[in-house]
Amino acid sequence: MEDEDGYFGERVAATYDGTSGVFGPGTVEATAGVLAELAGGGRAMELAIGTGRIALPLTRRGVEVHGIELSRAMVARLRAKPGGEDIPVAIGDMATTTMDGTFSLVYLVFNTIMNLTSQDAQVACFRNAARHLEPGGCFVIECRVPELRRLPPGQNVLPWHVSEENWVAYSYDPATQAMHGHYVEFSGGQGEYHTMPFRYVWPSELDLMAQLAGMRLRDRWDGWGRQPFTSESSQHVSVWEKPGPLGLGHNGLMDADVVVIGAGALGLSTALHCALAGRSVVVVDRHTAGSQASGRAAGLFKSVQADKLRTRLARRSITRALSFADWAGVPLPVACPGSFLIARTPQHREYLGQELAQSRRWGADVREAPRTELSYYRPAGDEYVLWCPEDVYIEEPASLIQACLAACRRHGAAVAENEPVIGIPVTAGRAAGVETERRSIAAPVVVDAAGGWVRQVAGLAGARVPVAPVRHQLLITEPASSIDPAAAIARVVDAAVYLRPARGGLMVGGFEPGPLPVDPEQQPASFSTDDVPLNLGVLRKLAGQVAAEAPAADSTPVAEHRGGLFTMSPDGRFVVGPVPDLPGLWVASGCNGSGFSSSLAIGEALAAWISSDTPPPGMTALAPDRFGPLTDDTLVSRGLWQYAHYYDPAAGTPQRPLRVGWPSGSVRGDAALTRDQG
Ligand SMILES: Cc1cc2nc3c(=O)[nH]c(=O)nc-3n(C[C@H](O)[C@H](O)[C@H](O)COP(=O)(O)OP(=O)(O)OC[C@H]3O[C@@H](n4cnc5c(N)ncnc54)[C@H](O)[C@@H]3O)c2cc1C
Repeated sequence: MEDEDGYFGERVAATYDGTSGVFGPGTVEATAGVLAELAGGGRAMELAIGTGRIALPLTRRGVEVHGIELSRAMVARLRAKPGGEDIPVAIGDMATTTMDGTFSLVYLVFNTIMNLTSQDAQVACFRNAARHLEPGGCFVIECRVPELRRLPPGQNVLPWHVSEENWVAYSYDPATQAMHGHYVEFSGGQGEYHTMPFRYVWPSELDLMAQLAGMRLRDRWDGWGRQPFTSESSQHVSVWEKPGPLGLGHNGLMDADVVVIGAGALGLSTALHCALAGRSVVVVDRHTAGSQASGRAAGLFKSVQADKLRTRLARRSITRALSFADWAGVPLPVACPGSFLIARTPQHREYLGQELAQSRRWGADVREAPRTELSYYRPAGDEYVLWCPEDVYIEEPASLIQACLAACRRHGAAVAENEPVIGIPVTAGRAAGVETERRSIAAPVVVDAAGGWVRQVAGLAGARVPVAPVRHQLLITEPASSIDPAAAIARVVDAAVYLRPARGGLMVGGFEPGPLPVDPEQQPASFSTDDVPLNLGVLRKLAGQVAAEAPAADSTPVAEHRGGLFTMSPDGRFVVGPVPDLPGLWVASGCNGSGFSSSLAIGEALAAWISSDTPPPGMTALAPDRFGPLTDDTLVSRGLWQYAHYYDPAAGTPQRPLRVGWPSGSVRGDAALTRDQG
């Protein structure tokens, strides 16, 4: 080490500003913009404040900034800048030095966590950050993802920069996570060597450090533009949160305005819209958010629907997905290639003709397509094809869940994962909250958005919700050069098959003519979506029906095969609104295969209904009391009919139950569930 100022003594401080691209105004302003938003009007503390690269622009945005800094030489540079004198700075190690008061934001940018060269010191830094945060405040770190993937086997040095002025390289010790920067500066033909020690650290390791300090991850982005963090990201901006007033850091009793059971697409969207309406909201899920049906979805949004209300909700959801960042404050990647609806039989041609006329009447942009041009679909030439330019998809369903989660937290909703709801207390004839394995949450509004378990959850309060869970599956092929990743979605209605590009391959999903009902209520308590029996043979048959036009669907090796439960209702429409006979209990379910794509509009409408106690226009048509008493047999047989007629629900209505009750061959009782890959 050079002097009492550590590695950032006078020599470094004198030339520090401007030595890297991060001093560019674009980067500085993007960083300050995000931090100002996270400070939310409160005070901020910068660990390793340095020469004020970020602190000064943040101050100019009206945030009161304090700082901790080891190097007096760096602070002298800060003091010399306009406004620099006014920033309170404590000299000392950022892992241990304290300041008075609490802050709504503590941040540490530009890889500086790696300047703490032991794991203990890095953990201490998280604890120090948490100590200074007020409840609900957040700690932000900007750091590289360790570049170990770039090291050739057997090599531990990575060249970084070579020019006439200087050379930079980094060496790595994977055993200790020690890393050294090696810098050679050239002047007058002479080179001078310096080195600096670091400890590289993985994002997941930082999450554990946050957990040790009582914080949890709220957001992780690939940069200050809030780009999604992916397996290819070389950097991350991570935001951890200290539990807030509705924080989940304690067990026992809590109060909220609204408690939502289920952190799938429908539950999270409802929670987010309730939080945006100013309600205090807690979401509870027995697994992790999005881990059940929502995380398995194909991610398809479809503007052509069987009736006016569903068309409105579907199109509203597309608009809300495309503008998610504007109203929820979190980016959401959406692919907008449009879709083709394809009919190859006279009966389906006629059916699509009707859909064209009615969808147009209901405002959707749908047109007759002259000829389907798709890299993965070669038309025979005699099809009838509709072009739906409004249709979109979300490549990975988890990105909608993560965006909703981040937005929920941003707007103050707390989300408790791995915490099953085991009771819904009823007081004076009203649902009064939930009991989980860890706490009691009192709330005048309880929303049952438990997906395939929605009936079971309503049953905890003695209420009934009319939905029948039914299996649905899809596959994604291995990547193939013949598939254009930008190609449109294709839905072949006579085969009940949908296709879209996915991960360089093709996604193939479809509606089996003999659907499999699955009743989680009759399964062991541990039953989850992972236990839904999959059957590749069903998908192979469906793919076989389009093999002539889409050979890749049938012939390319399968990279992923996944499935889960649809919640089918007797009339194929959502089940949304107040549960009959139990004030205070609401439901968001009856997805009928469109719950993922309609979730943003359904959550918006349900939150408005809850807030005003008045149903938004048209929504009573979805209320669960519309069915009256139904036997399980009728519920299941009608649900199965709706499933089998997903693409042509107007082609007829069930005159009599196609099957009775939970038929033989369905998954009920203690039947062993196995993954049938046949
Ligand atoms: C393979 C597949 C493809 C699909 N493709 C599409 C598509 O392209 N477009 C589309 O719109 N829809 C699609 N769907 C349907 C879509 O996934 C669902 O409509 C949607 O995800 C339903 O969301 P949800 O929130 O109701 O359910 P879920 O995502 O299942 O969420 C319910 C949550 O409730 C929790 N829960 C259950 N019991 C309890 C309890 N006791 N306590 C606390 N929490 C509990 C569960 O853990 C779960 O996380 C697809 C579904 C599948 C299976």
